[in-house]
Amino acid sequence: MENLDWKNLGFGYSDTNSNVRCYYRDGKWGELEISKSNEITMHMSATCLHYGQEAFEGLKAYRGKDGKIRVFRIEENAKRMQSSARGILMPELPVEKFKEAVFKAIKLNQEYVPPHGSGATLYVRPLLIGVGPQIGVKPATEYLFIVFVMPVGPYFKEGFKPTDYVIYREYDRAAPQGTGTIKVGGNYAASLRAGVRAHSEGYSAVLYLDAREKKYLDECGPANFFGIKGNSYVTPKSESILPSITNKSLRQLAKDMGMTVEERRVPVEELAEFSEAGACGTAAVISPFRSVYDADKDIRYTYGNDPGEVSQKLYNKLINIQCGCEEDPHGWVSIVE
Ligand SMILES: *Cc1c(COP(=O)(O)O)cnc(C)c1O
Repeated sequence: MENLDWKNLGFGYSDTNSNVRCYYRDGKWGELEISKSNEITMHMSATCLHYGQEAFEGLKAYRGKDGKIRVFRIEENAKRMQSSARGILMPELPVEKFKEAVFKAIKLNQEYVPPHGSGATLYVRPLLIGVGPQIGVKPATEYLFIVFVMPVGPYFKEGFKPTDYVIYREYDRAAPQGTGTIKVGGNYAASLRAGVRAHSEGYSAVLYLDAREKKYLDECGPANFFGIKGNSYVTPKSESILPSITNKSLRQLAKDMGMTVEERRVPVEELAEFSEAGACGTAAVISPFRSVYDADKDIRYTYGNDPGEVSQKLYNKLINIQCGCEEDPHGWVSIVE
């Protein structure tokens, strides 16, 4: 794709060559199919449309200096999609089938994997939806798994630069015993009002508090929270946050760097005690906080205009492992061949 302006890509949908699909019918998964269409046809009474039987994943393919294409911790995404499926009574796709479909989708579109050093990557979106008709509230009997891809630039236009976040107590993303721990569209629908308001008020995203007591940090809309305090990497333990693979990896890298990792409840006031804080997820890797504004209490926690030293180190380490530029001691990376 020589005519693509890799350096100025946004984080938006674009068409590529083809996508990979697999149907679940009569109690079993079928063969992988290749489709050139960006549309799907389904019954108007499909459960994904009415009752939110929908789960998704997000991962990236990276072009290394050596020209090879790599994916990061793909088994983790496969297992997380199984956990999402269990959470809303959809059939689990076997890990091997998930991997095969993702590899196939990447290979079919390999000219869309941006060159090394462009800052752009190929975003991979696996999707699992109930397509069988149902009008009573029951799980569907037919499902569709799709993997499609698109080249994307950095998630935040500002790149690896601190931005401002906001806390509003009048919105919840997910309930403590609800669906917060699985990656389902319903949680995103529930976060749209707060997210759009945050953007319109000049913030990158919302930092949610726990829905039960509004005392502890939960996570950001589409990313986990972490803070740095002395030699500790601190991240919330909660019944309603999505287990981020980026966060899991950063915890390991922090340990490797000799830091202590604390997974515990984090009171909102502790924001004042972190030397650095940020959001982490596949899309942005790390999005450092410049400030967090507690809109209800009118308190602003500030962290500076440049990324902190530890965030920068963790970020560099992780992106270098992802593109194959540094040793991969934990075996996180697979080469797409
Ligand atoms: C996907 C997601 C994340 C980030 O997870 P990664 O595996 O790091 O990409 C964080 N929070 C929510 C709510 C998510 O849906």
